[in-house]
Amino acid sequence: MSYVIIGNSTAAVGAVEGIRKYDIETPIVIISDEPYHTYSRPLISYYLGGKVAEENMYYRSRDFYEKNKVKPILGIKAKSVDFDKKEVVLQDESKIQYSKLLIATGGKPFIPPLEGLDKKNVFNFIKFDDVKEIEKVAVKGSRAVVVGASFSGLKAVEALVQRGVNVTVIDIMDRIMPRVFDETASSIALKTLREHGVEVLLKTTVEKIIGGENAEGVILKDGRELPCNFIILAMGVRCNTDLVKDTKLKINRGIVVDDRMRTNIPDVYAAGDAAEGYNFIEGRNMEIAIIPNAYRQGETAGENMAGKERLFNKGFIMNSMPLLGLSIISAGLSESGEGIRVKAIYKNRENTYKKFYIRDKKLVGYLLINDIDRAGIYTDLIRREVDISLFEDRLGEEGFGFVSLPKEMRKERMLGG
Ligand SMILES: Cc1cc2nc3c(=O)[nH]c(=O)nc-3n(C[C@H](O)[C@H](O)[C@H](O)COP(=O)(O)OP(=O)(O)OC[C@H]3O[C@@H](n4cnc5c(N)ncnc54)[C@H](O)[C@@H]3O)c2cc1C
Repeated sequence: MSYVIIGNSTAAVGAVEGIRKYDIETPIVIISDEPYHTYSRPLISYYLGGKVAEENMYYRSRDFYEKNKVKPILGIKAKSVDFDKKEVVLQDESKIQYSKLLIATGGKPFIPPLEGLDKKNVFNFIKFDDVKEIEKVAVKGSRAVVVGASFSGLKAVEALVQRGVNVTVIDIMDRIMPRVFDETASSIALKTLREHGVEVLLKTTVEKIIGGENAEGVILKDGRELPCNFIILAMGVRCNTDLVKDTKLKINRGIVVDDRMRTNIPDVYAAGDAAEGYNFIEGRNMEIAIIPNAYRQGETAGENMAGKERLFNKGFIMNSMPLLGLSIISAGLSESGEGIRVKAIYKNRENTYKKFYIRDKKLVGYLLINDIDRAGIYTDLIRREVDISLFEDRLGEEGFGFVSLPKEMRKERMLGG
């Protein structure tokens, strides 16, 4: 009997720790095509920006595998899974039997068909190896085009600016971070980016990558040509279900799971960016591609694999990022819609912006720029589905804080609940 986990990142670590709460003996095998000890994916931009050294990238201590009786098989891809024989086939044709399997293959970059994609110096921005390649060309004074002005694209922009690279960032939408930002939030971030010398081109996209063997520039949809030394494609992430596509495993956008992270195949579980999960604010299963979700889904899968019953039913999206001196945090809904009330407070002089999304008597989303001190409280209000009607008018105002919360909630927070 052995547990097999495909993937070696957040969801995999959650699963190991979930299994080991209840089963300290049964061997665990981890398979990953990346050659590294488990590392923190969000740190790749900090590595590129020179803020984090390689030895500080790791998500768990060096003895993690040994301590948890895990056999890591790293640097080799799982090629297929035979669900009837309960075995995973690796790229070198070796086979690994499982009694319980977790698929934690994460996300993969979305790349539209584009002429010139095969040229050198065209990079994704998702793996440690991506930034290890990018750092070779991202030298001071070089010129980069980043395609995509969302979360990971902007993280790449920040790192490149920190390295002294001249950056142009392009997005097809009319504002940056279009899924989270409105016009006001976008204009705050645009101002900051431009103050740092970043050229931002909106409502356009790359039609073609030009050059010889190396990429030397891009041609935009409107015909403009932008010369550059390298290109980073950051147009979003999709669930990585390549390993199991065209099998009997049920896949929607991601792998379909129940609230115990079980798939439709007995003894096969899925977690993290590869799977869907219940987003309780949206009231539906969907991909929730963030670290806390990947960890919790992995841990839930692990506990269930070890024979305990644990449910995952409280997922929601949350992101936080610094951007060239701006602090940005968002959680939950980030769009208005039927039945949603919006409260926004913009302070031009202080360069702060707070926006709250309220449904019925509950906070269901927020966006904070620069004034982020109360983010933990707002997240708690969302997660605990607190009735905010008694203090809704004070939400986001000066002086709103711990003391504004209902007594019961204050008590729970003080007790660390
Ligand atoms: C640049 C960047 C910044 C981010 N910043 C944040 C942040 O600030 N906060 C936050 O919450 N989230 C952030 N995220 C998202 C976060 O990193 C992911 O949600 C999280 O890593 C998902 O973990 P996972 O275990 O599901 O999968 P992943 O981290 O995607 O790992 C999956 C692993 O499986 C491997 N794999 C895939 N297929 C196979 C196969 N067939 N055989 C063997 N191995 C395979 C992959 O190579 C990979 O190593 C960021 C992501 C990126 C790219």
